[in-house]
Amino acid sequence: MRVHNFSAGPAVLPEQVLKEVQENLVDFKGNGLSVMEMSHRSSQYIEIIESARARILKIMGLGDDYVALFLQGGASTQFFMIPLNFCDDKKVANYIDTGAWSTKAIKEAKILGKNLHIAATSQDKEFTYIPKTWQLSDNPAYLHITTNNTIRGTEWKIDPDVPSDVPLIADMSSNFLSRPLEFSKYDLIYGGAQKNIGPAGVTFVIIKKAMLDKINPNLPTMMNYNTHVSKDSMFNTPPTFSIYVLGEVLKWIEGNGGLPGMQKINEEKADSIYDVIDDSDFYRGTVVKEDRSFMNIPFRLPTEELEKKFVSEAITNKMFNLKGHRSVGGCRASVYNSLPMSSARALAKFMIDFEKANK
Ligand SMILES: *Cc1c(COP(=O)(O)O)cnc(C)c1O
Repeated sequence: MRVHNFSAGPAVLPEQVLKEVQENLVDFKGNGLSVMEMSHRSSQYIEIIESARARILKIMGLGDDYVALFLQGGASTQFFMIPLNFCDDKKVANYIDTGAWSTKAIKEAKILGKNLHIAATSQDKEFTYIPKTWQLSDNPAYLHITTNNTIRGTEWKIDPDVPSDVPLIADMSSNFLSRPLEFSKYDLIYGGAQKNIGPAGVTFVIIKKAMLDKINPNLPTMMNYNTHVSKDSMFNTPPTFSIYVLGEVLKWIEGNGGLPGMQKINEEKADSIYDVIDDSDFYRGTVVKEDRSFMNIPFRLPTEELEKKFVSEAITNKMFNLKGHRSVGGCRASVYNSLPMSSARALAKFMIDFEKANK
C-alpha cells in the first residue's frame, strides 16, 4: 500500500505514471529494451525527448519563440549559469530575495564577482512574506525571482511587471505547472523537476529565444545555453530515464485538465489544510496569509515536543515527510500536483484528531 507522501522533494509522483513506467520498464512498448538501455540518438528516444520538449511548452501556452531544455546539475547549477550567461561587467544582476533558495542564487552571482543589486528583500521579517515593491538598479542584466519559497511556504501570487528591456528570470522549482501563470512575461524559467513535475536528475530550463543573442560567448561549452539549444538538448547524454518519466507526468497533467485542472485541485488540497490551521489555536501558520503557498504548508504546534509527537504519530498513520526543513523547524506538508486529494483530506482529519487528543 502506498503512503500519503508530503515530501518537499524528491516528491510524490502520480500512481498512474508509476504504473505506466512499470509496465514498460523491461520492454518499452514492444521495442524489446528498456528506456534506460536505449541510445539517446535512437529514433525511439528522440521521439520521447522531443514530445516532452513540445508538450511542456504547449501546457504553458508558449509558442516557438521559446525553447525547452532538459539539463543536469539541478536548479543549483542554474544559480551560476544565469549570471555567467547573461551578466557582463557593464551590467548589474538584480535579485529579489525571498529567502533560502533565492539567497543561494544571489550567493553564486557574488562568487562570480558580478555587480549585484538586491531589488527587494523580505529578510526583515524572516522571509515570511513576498515583497510587493522593488527598485531596479541602472543597467540591469535581469531581475531574478523565486516564485515559491519551498522552505518558508511563501509564493508569488502575481507575475511581476518589469520594463520590457529587463529580462525576468524565475526559479520555479517548487510551483512549476501548479497553476496557469503569465509565462510569456518571463524570459527564462528553470527548476529541478523533482518537486512538482518528475523524478530527480533532470532540470527544466525554458528560454525565450530572444535571450540567446545576449549570451556571453566565452564560456565552457557545457555552461553555455546556446550549446544546448543548438543541439536540441542533446549536446551530451541527457538524463534519459528521468526525462522519460517527466514526459509521462506532463501527459498526466494534460489528461487532468492542464494547468486550470491542477490549480483547482491544488487550491482545494491547500485550503483543506489551511482551514484546519485557521480554525485552531493549536496549530499556527508561519507566514502572512496573502502570500501563503499552495504547494508547501509550514505550521507550528504549541511546543517542539508536540511537533515531534505529531510527526511520529503521522508516520504510524501512513503520513510521511511532515517534518519541517531543518533550517526552520516545525512541520511542513508539501501538497504538490501529484498528491491526491485523499492524502490532503487524511492529513486534515489527522490534524483535527491530534489536536483533540493533545490539547
Ligand atoms: C529544491 C529547490 C532548489 C534546489 O534544487 P536542486 O535541483 O536540488 O539543485 C532550488 N530552488 C528551489 C525553489 C527549490 O525548491
